[in-house]
Amino acid sequence: MNRFAVARPHTVEQASRLVTDARFSLPVLKGGGMDLVDHMKEGLLEPDLLVELRGLGAVPGGEGIVADGAGVRIDGRVTLAEIAASRIVNERAPVVARAVGSAATPQVRNVATAAGNLLQRPRCWYYRNEQFECLKKGGLACFAADGENKFHAIFGDGPCYIVHPSNLAPALAVCDGVVHLAGGERASIRIADLYHLPAARVRDEHDLRPGEVITHITLAPAPRSGFHAVKEKQSFDWPLVMAAVTLELDGATITSARVCAGAVAPVPWPLPDVERRLSGVRVDDEAAVLDACSTAADGARPLAENAYKLALLPVAVQRAVLDAAGRPVETKR
Ligand SMILES: Cc1cc2nc3c(=O)[nH]c(=O)nc-3n(C[C@H](O)[C@H](O)[C@H](O)COP(=O)(O)OP(=O)(O)OC[C@H]3O[C@@H](n4cnc5c(N)ncnc54)[C@H](O)[C@@H]3O)c2cc1C
Repeated sequence: MNRFAVARPHTVEQASRLVTDARFSLPVLKGGGMDLVDHMKEGLLEPDLLVELRGLGAVPGGEGIVADGAGVRIDGRVTLAEIAASRIVNERAPVVARAVGSAATPQVRNVATAAGNLLQRPRCWYYRNEQFECLKKGGLACFAADGENKFHAIFGDGPCYIVHPSNLAPALAVCDGVVHLAGGERASIRIADLYHLPAARVRDEHDLRPGEVITHITLAPAPRSGFHAVKEKQSFDWPLVMAAVTLELDGATITSARVCAGAVAPVPWPLPDVERRLSGVRVDDEAAVLDACSTAADGARPLAENAYKLALLPVAVQRAVLDAAGRPVETKR
């Protein structure tokens, strides 16, 4: 690992100035450091300055997550464990609590921050291996396209086949999440506009500009919302597919739905056709719910080793719908 300096600014403005300070060749913001330090250990990133956001001071007890009108406001430095345990989040947007509560491991959730989770880099093993000069690192080829692609994208049409790894992002997408910024010209950006496909720009995944620091996230109320992830391992792993859902109900009948899939595309992947098909379906009719979700993988173009995701995705969406409706399916462990 290279030598680097650590700065502990007292304000977001100082943090923003440091991260664009021309005296350093690669200054970077550090939240929990889970992904950043991984990159440094893997030889993928050699920053000469880490700008420690925890140096801004701990979020005072209870103030990291607060009611925001009928919705919720979450400080960017709040940990995934704090979000998962928050009464406000569990009451107003259970999809968000469930999504982060099932991510990673308890140890990771105790350190990883909301902002860092949204901006973590993909897990593609070719990207993570410094010996592969893939498209993301300025190379000429995506090695996953014809290589080991079991965990890669079924949507998005390349030319790079990463999946976006964040559990939090699809959950925020169905709650009209907004990321609030300081240090740049923009005050905020919608989660729906935060990420881009590789065809637009392959070397990075999000549209934050240099110097922009995520201060907090706001989201609309979604009291009837749910999440389901299908994993190979229940802990210490990223999902194979995941689905986040919010519902509006009239009795047992769905009047409107928002559905976003994760781990299937380079960005959180909304499923508008499933949303339309769910309207009018009764949540106590599991077969009808599954039928409405059966088109979840329509339009997907699987690679050689990941067609299994076509079968998993409709089931993940159905189970997220049932979770949102308060009728979760028990999964055997
Ligand atoms: C074994 C394992 C399993 C995992 N499983 C999952 C999983 O199932 N689901 C999941 O979602 N994640 C999973 N993760 C990933 C983990 O959740 C992320 O690495 C973590 O959330 C990153 O957050 P952080 O605060 O540590 O970010 P950091 O590593 O500190 O930062 C990540 C990026 O965000 C930038 N950044 C951080 N804060 C800000 C800010 N306020 N403003 C602007 N930029 C900022 C940094 O500069 C950096 O580029 C797993 C990790 C491990 C090790």
